[in-house]
Amino acid sequence: MKKIEHIGIAVTDINKSNELFSKIFGKKNYKSETVESEGVTTSFFQIGESKIELVSAINSESPISNYLQKNREGMHHISFEVEDIVREMARLKAEGIRLLNDTPKKGADNKIICFLHPKDTNGVLIELCQEIL
Ligand code: ZN
Repeated sequence: MKKIEHIGIAVTDINKSNELFSKIFGKKNYKSETVESEGVTTSFFQIGESKIELVSAINSESPISNYLQKNREGMHHISFEVEDIVREMARLKAEGIRLLNDTPKKGADNKIICFLHPKDTNGVLIELCQEIL
């Protein structure tokens, strides 16, 4: 793994949270993007070398909608950038870590992504991401 790419925060109202985090960070988000296939809409803030992703549900089948029914808004996942996501997925699988998807899927911000099963990661939802070139 190369570095922490971003930290994901689950929110119920992306517009309100955009305003809130713009105040907190003293700057606006640099991108908003809806990923229909995942049922989410996202918003990215750049803080120095780090990024914060706000993520909210666009429909009731969205994993974020599920998440917010069971949990409060807040820290949702940590995303690590990897050089070769397929190789990293195979390596982790061989280590006995379950993956939430068998093949990389399209994420926001020009990335392909894969989530690791939080039951195999001390409860931390870890996302792997690789930039699409
Ligand atoms: Zn993410």
